[in-house]
Amino acid sequence: MKSELDKKKLIIKFAKKLNSTNLSPLRSGNISIRHTKNKEDGFLITPSGMKYDELKISDIVFVSLKGKYDKKNNKPSSEWHFHKDIYLYKKNMNAVVHTHSKSAVTLACMRKKIPAFHYMVAVAGGIDIKCAKYATFGTVELSKNIIKALKDRRACLIENHGQVATDKTIAAAFELAQEVEYLSSQYINCLRIGNPKILSKSLMSKVLGKVKNYKKGET
Ligand SMILES: [Zn+2]
Repeated sequence: MKSELDKKKLIIKFAKKLNSTNLSPLRSGNISIRHTKNKEDGFLITPSGMKYDELKISDIVFVSLKGKYDKKNNKPSSEWHFHKDIYLYKKNMNAVVHTHSKSAVTLACMRKKIPAFHYMVAVAGGIDIKCAKYATFGTVELSKNIIKALKDRRACLIENHGQVATDKTIAAAFELAQEVEYLSSQYINCLRIGNPKILSKSLMSKVLGKVKNYKKGET
């Protein structure tokens, strides 16, 4: 089990990577890791409105799964609601990466999901990557919409907003967010030429069975 300090260091490392990989420019996007503090279940998350290259260990905020945080410290990211609900509803997920990455945002603004135009769509856990219904950022309503789109999935787009990815580790969640961004850009390219052929459910179910092996680097 990683210490609070180790987790805070990881959050800062990956928050900076949001900028350096162009997954999310400037202050957009946010990152969290599940954490238990003084026997209270919750998560550590990037603070509201700070540039990531200026983040310090003391800036990272603990929020409990009841939505409580120390008002004397920094405010958590304004989007902490859906991080909380992901940890509540997905018990085996330990990290969340939310970004406003360019191609994912483009599809999300067109209110399109990502269908099985490519077999790698399965990395998010299903036959497609859904697009959560729009609601104002930071609201309970948006959180509910995201949880719905994440049913049996580890990632989704968010209408007129961006994307969110979750996994067992922060490194895996970050990689999944990169994968969603890459798939989004490939799908946009296909749409530029016409309507790509979509893989059938039965073909995708064969892929889904192999994804775990792929993640272990066995194919
Ligand atoms: Zn956002």
